[in-house]
Amino acid sequence: MSQVRRQATLRPRPHWGWQDAAACRGEDLVLFFGPDGERQPEREIRERKAKEICAQCPVRTECLDYAISRPEKYGTWGGLNEDERASERRRRMRRANAA
Ligand code: SF4
Repeated sequence: MSQVRRQATLRPRPHWGWQDAAACRGEDLVLFFGPDGERQPEREIRERKAKEICAQCPVRTECLDYAISRPEKYGTWGGLNEDERASERRRRMRRANAA
């Protein structure tokens, strides 16, 4: 078994059950990921709407934990956009390294 294949076998499979309760189920994905060529003013409006949905989501924590633990580079997950998740990822890494 190759090293890559072995690692893939050993990596825990993501648990997707939380998505069944997601507040964004049935919403337009463009609201969370944005269209190509989106300008900043439209992006801010779109992200605000997506975050309003996330704010009422019963699985926000699970969603954010998933997106931070995986290379989810794009979109709004757990109420945070890409830059906010990168900051949160760094914050969690600093906290883990300090422990
Ligand atoms: S937190 Fe937001 S993106 Fe994540 S499942 Fe809930 S509504 Fe969807």
